[in-house]
Parts: sequence; structure tokens; C-alpha cells
Amino acid sequence: MAVPFRRVSKSKKGMRRSHLALNVPGMIACPNCGELTLAHRVCSNCGYYKGKQVVAQKQESSEE
Ligand SMILES: [Zn+2]
Repeated sequence: MAVPFRRVSKSKKGMRRSHLALNVPGMIACPNCGELTLAHRVCSNCGYYKGKQVVAQKQESSEE
């Protein structure tokens, strides 16, 4: 809701904006490779999830 700029005290403005912060998505260190990855997702670095490889790991040295 729009509120006239000069009617709102700095305190009230601060109180309203206290809820505007962006939250950081849940990040965990991959138990296999240690890379930071989103929780409950396949690790984008090594393709492991729940201790198993579920996505083929991309090759770094071959194919080029
Ligand atoms: Zn990993």
C-alpha cells in the first residue's frame, strides 16, 4: 500500500523494510566432493545424490 513519503518516520520505514531482505537458499557442502550445492538436489559438480551417482559425471580432460 502506498504511503506518503513524509508521513512515514524513519523508524516505521525501517520496521517495514525489516522484512524485505532476500533469504539465502539452503546450501550444503556435498558429502562426496565438498562443493557447495543446493540441499535436496543432485550435486551439480559430481552428480551424486544420497551417496550414489545419479547423473553421469562430465569429463574434464577427454573429448577435446
Ligand atoms: Zn558433489
